[in-house]
Amino acid sequence: PPGLSGDFASLMDFADAARRMRVRTNAETPSEARAARAFGAEGIGLCRTEHMFFDGNRIQVMREMILATDEAGRRAALDRLLPMQRSDFVELFEIMAGQPVTIRLLDPPLHEFLPKGEGEIEDTARQLGIDRAVLCQRIIALKEMNPMLGHRGVRLAISYPEIVETQARAIFEAAIEAGARAGAAVVPEILLPLVSLRKEVDFVRKRIDQVAATVMAERGWKVDYLVGTMIELPRAAVQADTLAEAADFMSVGTNDLTQTVFGISRDDSANFLATYERQGILGRDPFQSVDVEGVGELIALAVEKARRTRPSIAMGVCGEQGGDPASIDFFERVGIDYVSCSPFRVPIARLAAAQSAIRAARLAQSRPRPRG
Ligand code: PEP
Ligand code: MG
Repeated sequence: PPGLSGDFASLMDFADAARRMRVRTNAETPSEARAARAFGAEGIGLCRTEHMFFDGNRIQVMREMILATDEAGRRAALDRLLPMQRSDFVELFEIMAGQPVTIRLLDPPLHEFLPKGEGEIEDTARQLGIDRAVLCQRIIALKEMNPMLGHRGVRLAISYPEIVETQARAIFEAAIEAGARAGAAVVPEILLPLVSLRKEVDFVRKRIDQVAATVMAERGWKVDYLVGTMIELPRAAVQADTLAEAADFMSVGTNDLTQTVFGISRDDSANFLATYERQGILGRDPFQSVDVEGVGELIALAVEKARRTRPSIAMGVCGEQGGDPASIDFFERVGIDYVSCSPFRVPIARLAAAQSAIRAARLAQSRPRPRG
C-alpha cells in the first residue's frame, strides 16, 4: 500500500500534535481502507454500502432485490446478499483494527441499479426467469423523474424493513466474528442516509435494536453499537435538536446538503456552475468548498441545535468537502469533531485540520479578555 515516510511523515506527526479534529476516511473496499490507514486515517467515517454492489455478479443481486415484486422475492435476494456483506464488514473491521467504522445503510438512487440497454435487460430477464416484457414493465414502474429526491436512503429502509434487518444482521455478525478473532470488542456505527424526520430514525432504530438483540442471543455475545443519522437535508439540519434525541452521532453530507439548499443537481451542475464562477457570481464550486453563508450557516445551526439536546454528540462531515482545506477551516470554527474524506485526501486533511486549529488558537489569544 502507499504510505508516508521521511520528512513527509514527520511533518504529519507534527500536524497531528496540533490538530483537534479527527480525520477519517470514506472507504468501501479493503484496498481503500488499507491505503487510508497508511495515510493516517483514524477510522472509516463513511462506508457507502450501495457502492459494494456496483460491479460484476454483485449488481445482479441488487437488481434482483429492487425488481422483486414481493417480500419473499426481496428476501431471497437478501439471503444471498447477507454472506457477502458479512465478509465485507469482517474485512473492513479487521483492517481498521479497533478504529471506528461507520457503515451506512443502503442509499442507492434506484436508477443506478436498474438494467440499462438490450444486453443488461436480456441478462436480467433470464436471471429472474421472467419475460423481457414483464421485466420492462417492472423497470418502468420503478422509474422516477427525480431519483436523487426519490425512493432512496432511509425511505427505502422504511418501505422494505427487510433490507435493514439483513444489513444489521451482517454488521452484528461481522462485529462478533472480527471481535472474537482480534480478542477485542468491535463497536460498529450504523448510519442512516437521507433522514429528515425523527420518526424515520425511530422506525429504523427499532428494527436495528431487534436484530441486535436476536443476534446477541443466538451467539451469546454482547455487541455495543451506535446508530447515527446523516444531516444532508435542510430539514434535518433545522431539526438537529429533535434528531439528536434519537441518534447517537451525526454526519453531515455536504453533497446532498449543497444540492438541496441551492436546489442545484449535484449530477448535472457542471455547465452553468462554470459560467457562474467565470462571471464571478459564485466564488467557488459549492460542491467542492463550503458555501459559508448558506450551506455553512445550516451546518453551524445543526451543530448548535444538536448539542442543545446532547452536548457531547459526535458530529462529523463525510461529503466531498471533508477533504477540502478551506471547508475544513470552517468545520474547525463551528466545532465539527471529525471529517471523513477519500483516502488520498487524508494527509491534506490532517494538515488542514492542524492549520485550522492553530489559526483558531491564535484568534482566541488575540481577542481581548473580558475584565473581572
Ligand atoms: C453526501 O451527500 O454528502 C454524502 C456523503 O452521501 P452521498 O455522497 O453518498 O450521497
Ligand atoms: Mg448523500
